[in-house]
Formats: sequence, C-alpha cells, structure tokens
Amino acid sequence: MPHILLLEDEPAIADTLLYALRSDGFEVTHVRLAREALAAFAQQPPDLAILDVGVPDGNGFDVCRAIRKSSELPIIFLTARNEEIDRVLGLELGADDYVSKPFSPREVCARVRAILRRSAGRPAATANDHHSPLLQLDEAAQRIRCSGQWLALTRYEYRLLATLLKRPQRIFSRAELMDLVWADAPDTADRTVDAHVKLLRAKLREAGASAELIQTHRNMGYSLQLVA
Ligand code: CA
Repeated sequence: MPHILLLEDEPAIADTLLYALRSDGFEVTHVRLAREALAAFAQQPPDLAILDVGVPDGNGFDVCRAIRKSSELPIIFLTARNEEIDRVLGLELGADDYVSKPFSPREVCARVRAILRRSAGRPAATANDHHSPLLQLDEAAQRIRCSGQWLALTRYEYRLLATLLKRPQRIFSRAELMDLVWADAPDTADRTVDAHVKLLRAKLREAGASAELIQTHRNMGYSLQLVA
C-alpha cells in the first residue's frame, strides 16, 4: 500500500483529501505544520508527498527543498494562489505536479496514481546524483559531457538537456520545459522545444550516444532515459 505524506493546515481540505486518498487505498500520514512534515519524512520516508504551499510555520517550498537534499520522492504542491511564479518555482524545486485550489479530490487521487505509476520504473537517485556513465553534468561550468567528451551546446540546448538529466525518466511537458528552460523568453512556442530536442538528439548521436536517449511521449512530452 503506497504511503503518502500530506501537509495541509486547512481542516476541511485535509479531511476531503484524506477521505479520498484512503478510499483509493493509500496509507496517509497527515500533518499540519512544516516542521511536522519534516519530522514525519525523517521518521518514515513516504512514497509520495503532497505539500500545501502556505502553512502556519513556513511553506511547502521550504519543505520540498529540505526533502530534495536527500530524496527524489515524487512531490505534488497544493496552492491557493494560482500564480505563475509558484508554478515555476515548484517545478524548479523538482515538483512532479502542481494543483491549484479549489481542486477535486478525485483529480488529486488520479494525479497521485499517475505519478506513482510513472515513478515506479525510475531508479532511486539522490538529488545531487546527476551523473550516469554516459552523461555528466557540470553545473558550475554549465556544460555536459557525453561518453567522455564535452558537448558543444548553445545556452538553451544546455538548459534543456540539464533539466532532463536532473530528473531521468521524468516526463516533462512542453509547457513545463518552456517554463524551466525558456523562462527568459516568454514568446517561446511548442515547436521551439521540438526543434531543440531535434538538435540535441543530433549532437548526442554525434557524440556516440543513442538518439533514443531523449524519448518522445505522445501527447505528454519528453524524458531522458538513462536506463540501459
Ligand atoms: Ca494552507
């Protein structure tokens, strides 16, 4: 039975979610404060965390940052504020999904199931483990090595590959990639993402890697598949 950590300080919302998640067969630990969430995480790391952004003693983003220091467990943010900046910040912190209040508990349950299905095949990587025998990320110098040779990447190609590499197997939608990679270019279109993926595949192939490294998921987006 998958174990979920729920951080939510509003009793009505927490009760609705608890009921829906437990009815769906999940084991749920519910806490109201950020420090309780961290304590619960330390005691028994869950399979997935649902974090409210605004809680009385802090916020869900800080809890996420703390968790990400040691774990890549799937995280969903809940927020009352439907602001672009929150969505982008959540993604940058490595959130797997984002739900704005008001939401339907069924929708949250569906997303939880989808994310757990998706993450089932992903290796247990730690947050700072962005290395594979094939690809190595050097964030300080903003460069990436493939099969031992540094790739000649443009700024956006680097950001795109680095984003995918930090979360192998995680499927990023085009909209998410536009938020994360082209944050400074708001007029970016879907086809810009597609074009850069094409260029990256060509460079990876040239460096001796499989072009299948970056996978296209129909109607969903792209992911990096590091598993041999
Ligand atoms: Ca709240």
